[in-house]
Order: sequence, then C-alpha cells, then structure tokens
Amino acid sequence: MSDKNKPQKPFSRRSFIRTAAMTAATLAIPGCSRKEKPVLSTLTGDFDPLRSYPYRGWEDFYRKIWTWDKVVRSTHSANCTGSCSWKVYVRNGVMVREEQAADYPRISPDLPDYNPRGCQKGGCFTEYVYSPQRLRYPLIRIGERGEGKWRRATWDEALTMLAEKLLDNIYNYGPDTNSFFSVIPAMSPVSFCAGSRLAHYIGGVFLSFYDWYCDLPPGEPLTWGVQTESCECADWFNSKYIVLWGSNISQTRIPDAHFAYEARYNGAKIVCISPDYSSSAIHADLYFRINPGTDGILALGVAKLLIDQNLIDAPYVKEQTDLPLLVLPRTNRFLRESDLKKGGKDDIFFVWDTKQQRAVPTPGSMGSEQKTIHLNGTDPALTGTFQVQLADGKTEDVTTVFELLKKEIAGYTVDKVAARTGLPAHEIELFAKDLGTRKPAMIIHGAGTNHWFHNDLTNRSFILLVALTGNTGKNGGGFNHYVGQERLWPEQGFFKLAFPETRKKQRFQNTTLWSYVHSTNKDPHLYNGKPIEWYIQESVKNGWMPLWPKNGKKPRAFVVWRANYLNQAKGNEILESSLWKDLDLIVDINYRMDTTALYSDVVLPAASYYEKVDINSTDCHSYIHPFGKACEPLFESKTDWDIFRALAEKMAEVASKKGLKPFHDEAFDWNRDFTQLAHDWTGKGTIQSDEQAVNFILGNAEETKGMTYQQLQEKPKRFVATDPESWNSDIEDGIAYTPFKHQLDKKRPWRTLTGRQQFYIDHPWYIELGEALPTFKEPIEEEYPLYWNTPHGRWSIHSTWRDHRAMLRLQRGGPIVYMHPDDARKRGLQDNDWVRIHNEVGHCVCRLQILPGEKPGRVTMYHGWEKYLGFKEGGWQSLTYIKIKPTQLVGKYGHVNFRLNYWGPTGNNRDTKVEVEKAKV
Ligand code: SF4
Repeated sequence: MSDKNKPQKPFSRRSFIRTAAMTAATLAIPGCSRKEKPVLSTLTGDFDPLRSYPYRGWEDFYRKIWTWDKVVRSTHSANCTGSCSWKVYVRNGVMVREEQAADYPRISPDLPDYNPRGCQKGGCFTEYVYSPQRLRYPLIRIGERGEGKWRRATWDEALTMLAEKLLDNIYNYGPDTNSFFSVIPAMSPVSFCAGSRLAHYIGGVFLSFYDWYCDLPPGEPLTWGVQTESCECADWFNSKYIVLWGSNISQTRIPDAHFAYEARYNGAKIVCISPDYSSSAIHADLYFRINPGTDGILALGVAKLLIDQNLIDAPYVKEQTDLPLLVLPRTNRFLRESDLKKGGKDDIFFVWDTKQQRAVPTPGSMGSEQKTIHLNGTDPALTGTFQVQLADGKTEDVTTVFELLKKEIAGYTVDKVAARTGLPAHEIELFAKDLGTRKPAMIIHGAGTNHWFHNDLTNRSFILLVALTGNTGKNGGGFNHYVGQERLWPEQGFFKLAFPETRKKQRFQNTTLWSYVHSTNKDPHLYNGKPIEWYIQESVKNGWMPLWPKNGKKPRAFVVWRANYLNQAKGNEILESSLWKDLDLIVDINYRMDTTALYSDVVLPAASYYEKVDINSTDCHSYIHPFGKACEPLFESKTDWDIFRALAEKMAEVASKKGLKPFHDEAFDWNRDFTQLAHDWTGKGTIQSDEQAVNFILGNAEETKGMTYQQLQEKPKRFVATDPESWNSDIEDGIAYTPFKHQLDKKRPWRTLTGRQQFYIDHPWYIELGEALPTFKEPIEEEYPLYWNTPHGRWSIHSTWRDHRAMLRLQRGGPIVYMHPDDARKRGLQDNDWVRIHNEVGHCVCRLQILPGEKPGRVTMYHGWEKYLGFKEGGWQSLTYIKIKPTQLVGKYGHVNFRLNYWGPTGNNRDTKVEVEKAKV
C-alpha cells in the first residue's frame, strides 16, 4: 500500500466512528444540550459493534481496491470523439479501475485546459471488459443466424474456414464479392489498418462509414471541398457568440462541454436551437424550441435579415466566397472563360470589377494559374446586372450569385419563418442582430440537424451565415461540426499503412448505396418525377459513384470489425431479410457479443481497448495519445493486428497447399500472389507488431514527426505541424487550432471548383432539382403524426455500454421512448406503459416515459439499443429505411467527386414518422 492510502493519524477511522457515535447519541437524547453531560446509563457496556465484529479483514479488502502493481496509459475507441487519456490500474494481472490521466499539456494560460477529460462510460470500462457479453473464444454458428446457437472453435479451424471461403470467392466470383466494413480510423488506426491492408492485398471492397452513419456533413464537401473541418474545442472559449445547433454538448461532448459554458465567463452568449428542452438548453441565454426539420428555413430567414440590415462583412464576402461570381441567367450556369472565348477553360470564372467596369477572371479557381485568391486591387460587385460579349459575338446579361441568393431567400420573411419554425419573430430578429454584431461567432453543429434527408441544404445554409458575417477562418468563429471521431491527424502515415499500394488501387464503396442496391430497400418517393433508381443508374453509368460488385453480382462474404453494422443500419430488418440472406459468410471480429456478432456465422474474439497497442486522435483536441496493453488479451482473444496477420498467414498457407496460381486482377492490372500474402501484409516483414505499426504511422506523418509510441506512453503530445495536403491551418504555439486560416490569412484558394467558399453549385442535377443555391425544403412527407427521433444518448456511445450494468442503472434499464404529456394524453397512455411504435416499414414494442421537455409531435428513443436488449418486438431501426438523396449521387464536378467518407449519399434517418399506441403484452 502506498503512503497516501494508509489511514491518517491521529484521527483514525476507528476513533472517528467512536466519536461520531457518541456525538449522535448525545444529540439524540431529548432535552440534552451540548453543555449538559449526558446520562449514558442506557449506553453502558460495549456499544461499538465494530469491536466484536468477526470479519475485520473487510476493511483491508476495501482498501486493497485502491492498490495496484502497475499503471498503463490507454483510452477508448467507441467513436465518441472524446479521445481521453486514462490510466488503467492493474493488480495481479487484473485491470481493477481507471482514472483520468489529466496531463494534457496546456495550450495557453489564456485558455482553459483539457484536464481532466473523460466521461462516465470510460470510467467503468474495466468492469465492462469482464462482463458476461465479453467474447472469449472463436465461435462458429450451429443454429439459424441470430438464434444464438454456437460451438466453440479453435483459431486454426475458424481461420481456415475464412481463408478458404475468401479465396474461393476470389477465384470463382471475383475479388469484389468480398466486402469489408470497419469504422473511424482516428479512434484506433492500427486496428483499422489491420483489416484494410488485408482487403487491399486481396482486392476486396472497402465500405465507407462516415457518410453511411450520416455523420458526414455533405454541405462541407460541397461548399468548402473538405470532408469536415472544425476547430478544436478549446477554441470555443474564444467565441463571443455560440450557437448550439443540433448539438447537445452536455450529453454527447461530455469532456468538452465546459469550454462552451466557460466561454460565458469570457463574454460569450449561448443560443441553443433544439426541439426538446435539452440538458444543453438549460445553459443557454436564448433557447429556440424549434419545430423539427425547420432549421434550414430559420437559417435562411436569418441570412435575409443579415443582408437586409447590412450586417454582412462585405470585404470578406467579396474575397472568400463565390457570391460575387457572375452567372448567365439564361443557363443558370457560372460565366466561364469558355463562354467568352473559343478554347477557353471551363474552370475559370469571372467577377465584375467596379473599378474597371468589366468582367475579370477571379484568381485561385481550379483552372487558374494564380494559386492565390488575393484580389490584387480588384473590387468585385456583389449586386447588379451587367453585359458581357460571348464567344459568338452576342451580348448577354450576367448577374452575380449574390443577386440570385437575394432572390432565392426573398420569401423567407420573419413572419413566414416564425410561423414555420414556431419561434417568436422578435427573437429571430434578436438572433440575427447578435449573430451579425458579436464577433467572433460560431455554430457548434451536430447530428440533430445533420441526420435529416436535406442535410446538405441545411449545412449550406448554416455555413452561409458564418460566411456572410465573416466568421469562418477565425479563432472563435465558423461552422464547427462534431459528429463521429472523423479527424485522423497523422493522415498520410495512416494512408500508407492502410492502403500500401496507394488508394488508387483499392476498391472503395459508399455503404449507403451498397446497402440500398443489394437489399430489397425501396424508397417510394419520386424526385422531380423520377424514382431514385433512375438517379442511381445514371450516377453509376456516368462513373460518378462506384457500385461493387460489378455486373449484377451479389456480395458473398462480409467481414466486420470495430463496428456494429447490423444494429446501426437504417432499415436493418429489411437488410436482414435480403442482403443478409444473400451473404454466404458473415464474420464479426469483436470484443463483445453485439447484434452484428449475434447474426454472424463466425465470431472472432478481439482484444479490448485496454489489451492492445494503438493510438487515438480526434477533431475535439490537437493531441495524440496511446492505447497501452494493461494486460494480455483476455481469454483466447487477440488484437486486431494479430488476427488479420494470422488470417493473412492462413490464406498464404491455403493458397500454397492448393497450389493457387496468382490471380490477375484486371481492374488494377495486379497479379495477386496469395502465397505471398503474409509477406506483403507485413510490409515484407518490416511491420510485424502493432507497436511497429504505430511507429510507422507516426514516422510517416508531418503531424507526428519525431514521436514514438514509447514517448506517447509518458503523456499526450500536441501535434507538431499540419501537412498542407490534408489541412487548412497550421498548428500554432499558444493558439487553439481552427481551420481555414490558410485561406483567410495566406489567401490560399479554397479546395473547390471556384477556389472560393462555393454556395452556387451549377451542376445540371442541382439546377434541375432547384438546389443550385441553399434553399429550404420540407422534410420528406410521411403519413404518420409523430417524428421518430433517435439521437446520441448520455448513457452509451452508440451501442457500446448500452448493455453495461452501471449505465443501465442510471436509466430505466431497457429501451424507452420519450413522449410529451399532451401526446400521451391524446392516446390514453400512462408513464411506463408498454407501447407499440409503428409505421409502414415496421414496428417495435418498448416502455413509454412521459417527458415534459419533449416536443409535442415528436417521440425520442436514444439510439444504439441492441436488438436483444429489452424490446418485446423489433428494434429502434425497425421503423427506418434507406433514403438516398439524388443530389448526393453526383460526381465529376470540380471538387465534387466520390471519395470514401468524403462524398457520397448519406444514410439519413430523421425524416421518419410513426404512431404510438398501447401494446398488448
Ligand atoms: S468513452 Fe470517450 S468520452 Fe468517454 S472517457 Fe472514453 S474516450 Fe472519453
């Protein structure tokens, strides 16, 4: 026992109890004041029950809980975005508890620090790893899928089965029939790369996750040409106006919420926009109880107010956005160099220079030779109509994007916005005034608004607000989206490990599209009179989106690790009855028995977060820190790295035994010699262990140059630089990271077709569907009366910890749906009733909780409940299906091209409506 754990003299625990007992006895005697000596005749003799208690050892037993043999630094990878460093305490080889490490170096004395960071889920992980759901041995299914009948297998048997099946598929049906799904490399890149390397070397299809989970904000690739760019959370403290829009930071950003709330001591005002009176709303200066799905009209109404009241930052708008670019109203297309002269380029654009009174090309577009957006004395007009002479000699009117925008949002008057959103008109006006005058201002954005069908339009409208007010690219400002732990800082090192022969030689697939096409999912809506199938066919035919396997084949093998595909899948019952049935082999690699594992054919036990070597990073802070092996993988589990290395070795062994000739993969002109697979997979023997893999990533990235895994075990380190290929700002000493300083301060072009923040997308489908500019579209109509809301919750990270004893005790212990008292009264429902939630897709049965903070017309179930965790019937995804938005299928438009997790249709789910009735149970 260390000194700090020894009882302190002279006031021992025993003397304390004795004194306390005497005091309590004294005070309990009627009429006895402190001055009077109590009569203790009734208390004579030994009244200390502890003295004669036979099992005195229990005290030591309790104290020993706080003793340990060693401490190892580790963290959690459940896609929480927290990325918190923890110390794991080990005694006699058993992980006994964890404690927040609290040693993140401080960025600046002017900013609150990151210490300590953590949440209640992380604080009980040691218990979770020893819980009954922990997978111990390889399992092979003997009953029906999902029936829960298994037999224990040896690693050799299970790996041989997998190796033979994957190789059979390659030679008999093609490598594109083997599909691989894992998520969020930032949370444990070595575990991710273990499987992606195997998929890479055997030609398998690698599926996306960030778009499929609808965590991707599609407005960012459209407007900024980036996947997602956000400030680190310490920068929230620099803001003077924070808008929590669709983000409930008190519940879903537990380690970081304090930065926003502390910003109020620094002069910030907080606005919370949310249909329910959430745990973040209670901290707001202004709370908007908005109608669900109407955030876009509020944003555009506020944009109109900012423009009408001249609250915009005109110099910023002229330099940094496409709003002054010229458009030909006849075609609704940008004016391009190719319009003005024969042989002119399609990717050079024009503004009207008020000084020269003529159209001049803008610098920094994709076709421009000037790699700057510096205006160099030009003064672009924001408003007006002008005349230009086209290449055929004809004169034609042109106007600006800004003029078109004003026309587009002219109808969003305060009264109309107030009526649709359910908000008071004067508060909308106050919001616009504050947003236009309090600098810097930022929007903290989350899944609450991003999970809607028209998420791209809503994102673009929000980004427009912070661009009009000149906030993007400044500390304390901008549109900052935090959904999913998407920011992998040492990106280039990661890519080299994940897809060694470059990403060009990898079959990538958007999962939303893959899941839709390979199942019986059917979106009944028409878009501009056409079904979504028409748009899918066109997109694939034009080469905008990939669709694997090719030639009408079905996927045959599906390997899932670090993910819970089936539980989180929109329309998971539709998938289970179609895509799932067509798969010959489903493999789940996991440390716990979740829904996907339960419905698999082979389950391989993986090491948990505290039993492996890896690294972890997030967009919420600018540090890297490690996973450490507090103990060897429990039972027969192995690390992901060791599992995939063993599989590569087994495939090489099977290929040799069968005498397989190299497989010629035509798509990449690649002769794949599977007898050499283990050699290739280990980087010709140079990356054998997970620690070597960590050091490979660290050593191949600008952000972590000079760092080693061993150093990270000492304490988290701040990134040393940012690779200009991946980043839009530098890491600066003493300053919190915020994106787009390269564009604002260094005048580097934005990564878009026009080289500017691009609000006008003149792709034919955008024009045809009326979405060239940010606009408001109503949620997709459904017949049922109540919106089905499934947000991120407080007591789990997605499905992880959903089944944790301690977390279940903090709630009602099973799936519940929250409903406003008025909605419950209308339906004759009482609190804790069993209810049946249903729509045209499916139903589930669970308990009801009546909650005054819920919005009438909406019901909420926090997401992630496993199918087997307390539903009488169905599950939370039984009511959803996949809806693909046509505009998210486009490609080959400047910066808008398919890229894994960067651009592709999102798996939205908020435009779902249901009815609730009392269940017969
Ligand atoms: S689960 Fe996430 S947020 Fe919670 S302590 Fe772990 S890393 Fe931090």
